[in-house]
Amino acid sequence: MVTCLFFHAHPDDEALLTAGTMARLSAEGHRVVLVVATAGEAGLLAGGGDPGALRRAELRSSAAVLGCDRLVELGYPDSGLLGSPDGFSSQDPYRVALRLADVLREENARMLTSYDPNGGYGHPDHRQVHAVATLAARLARTPIVLEATVDRSWYARGLKAARLAGIKPPPGADQVYSSRAEITHRVDVRPWLADKRASMAAHASQASSPGGDTRTLAALLRLPRPLFRLALGTEWYVRRDVPAGTRMTHPLAELC
Ligand SMILES: [Zn+2]
Repeated sequence: MVTCLFFHAHPDDEALLTAGTMARLSAEGHRVVLVVATAGEAGLLAGGGDPGALRRAELRSSAAVLGCDRLVELGYPDSGLLGSPDGFSSQDPYRVALRLADVLREENARMLTSYDPNGGYGHPDHRQVHAVATLAARLARTPIVLEATVDRSWYARGLKAARLAGIKPPPGADQVYSSRAEITHRVDVRPWLADKRASMAAHASQASSPGGDTRTLAALLRLPRPLFRLALGTEWYVRRDVPAGTRMTHPLAELC
């Protein structure tokens, strides 16, 4: 049994990027810990009630569906896509890393997930996840650090399909995530897709498209099942300390 720590910026990042891997590791008997930096309150349009409380409740449901053994919420303010002076992205990464390293040590975690230096698509909180995770893994001497990503060529095909369906992708969308050559881990999560779908659906506030704005999560949940399986059956990671061209199929490849 190995403890694996999944570090994400906002509620629903775990659902989109690593939910299948989390459900798989949990089913295989490993301890799965989810650490989330913010409550994602900037990702919610104005409405009644407390957006942070709603998204935290959704996060708890998602974590339960995925078999997480522990959920740690670091409680930083969501910076939003444009950044904010007191948001998570403006915090001193070293101070945050000390907190994350405490959890890594306490759990004796052998694996930590992060994002690539650009945070996949440039969100300031996602770039901060990369900075913090890199420092924390060094502090706690965590042997395996995996950057959760998306195969860019797969993403480009998705964008093409989205354009055909009349959905306009954001500018620069074809320059995001990782090239196929960079990816070291392709994890087959097809047997755990029901859990992944349930985790995505738990984030109900992100699963609707208010005012014609199509959220990724909403669009993916609308896919017919065979397409959902095709689109979301693999999760991708980049591990920087293994030779380029390495092809692994399990996140804990050399430990199991
Ligand atoms: Zn996010």
